Amino acid sequence: MWHATVVEHHRLRRDVAVVRLIGDVIPFVSGQSVAVSTPQHPLVVRRLSPALPPSLDGKLEFHVKAVPAGWMSGSIVAETKPGDVWEFTEPAGQMRIDDSGRDVVMIAGGTGLAPFRSLILDAARKAEPPRTYLFFGARTPRDLYASDMLFLLDAELPWLTVVPVVEHLVDPDWTDEWYERTKVDVGYGLDDLLAGRLGDVVSAHGKFTAHQIFVCGSPGMTRATIEQLTAGGTPMENIRYDPI
Ligand SMILES: Cc1cc2nc3c(=O)[nH]c(=O)nc-3n(C[C@H](O)[C@H](O)[C@H](O)COP(=O)(O)OP(=O)(O)OC[C@H]3O[C@@H](n4cnc5c(N)ncnc54)[C@H](O)[C@@H]3O)c2cc1C
Repeated sequence: MWHATVVEHHRLRRDVAVVRLIGDVIPFVSGQSVAVSTPQHPLVVRRLSPALPPSLDGKLEFHVKAVPAGWMSGSIVAETKPGDVWEFTEPAGQMRIDDSGRDVVMIAGGTGLAPFRSLILDAARKAEPPRTYLFFGARTPRDLYASDMLFLLDAELPWLTVVPVVEHLVDPDWTDEWYERTKVDVGYGLDDLLAGRLGDVVSAHGKFTAHQIFVCGSPGMTRATIEQLTAGGTPMENIRYDPI
């Protein structure tokens, strides 16, 4: 078992927070998830995916979305605070970029982005990262909680292309005070967004026969996306996934 202490808690949306911790070095690799318990619910264990590659100084980052009536996720978004000590066990998961040099396609729904952020930063340390396409999907533009960070990475890394996708081009008419507080000028504009469901948008690009494909999102999004990809001729053996 490993421990780390919360040093930052950024609530980015009513239902999304980014949590940064420093602590033990956990033996995971980018793309994996770890089992976590928090002091608010010490007996509840849930899997979360680090959004940073493993670091020798024990830095960790997690992106957490509160699911309706969820025990742990709602509490992390609303109640986590600096000084909280989290416990970690069981790193696991098969989403790894191989050394074949094949192009990479990442398909992320919501906080399914986290393991891909880790894989992209890991690839950026390599001499020749593979060409990588990241489809990042959300319901509406303001649900693209990491738009600013991805916009900057996209501009910085010549081998990375980010495709932001939203189901609806218009935000809901209620005000998300957390979004208003954290709003910045950097990020994708409405003209940069593709409209549609992730599975439809990705499979409209054709079949991916010579790619490494990774899918991470809600169980429904993961299932629907894989079904559409394979129905369109993408071989299942090219696909690795983690429903969150
Ligand atoms: C490999 C893996 C990696 C994961 N990584 C992350 C991550 O990086 N960030 C993150 O935010 N979450 C991640 N999850 C999801 C996380 O582990 C929890 O399942 C989620 O936070 C809900 O836990 P909870 O205790 O709040 O809800 P629970 O108390 O377990 O569930 C409460 C209710 O919410 C429903 N519910 C549970 N999950 C979902 C969902 N995804 N969408 C809609 N309804 C749901 C349940 O059916 C139930 O009715 C990951 C899951 C897996 C398996």
